[in-house]
Amino acid sequence: MCYRPANTVTIVKCLECGAFNKPTNETCSKCGADLNESRKAADEAVAPPAGKPKEISLTPQGLDGAPKAPGAPSAPKAPGAPKPPTP
Ligand SMILES: [Zn+2]
Repeated sequence: MCYRPANTVTIVKCLECGAFNKPTNETCSKCGADLNESRKAADEAVAPPAGKPKEISLTPQGLDGAPKAPGAPSAPKAPGAPKPPTP
């Protein structure tokens, strides 16, 4: 709560190597991966669904018994909707 405003700095985490990059970076400073995809993924994971009630209808019913992968990159708060990485 005492942090900087949310819209000031958003660190972009590289999906490829996990390095943290400035939001102004186009590519990862470490591995050179395209950060636009990382940014997009982060947006989807962090941005709250606008105008939506807090009712969640995305229960992964076909995935029972499948534990979340530990150390999944860049989605600490994904509300129960794991997406497989698309190449
Ligand atoms: Zn990288």
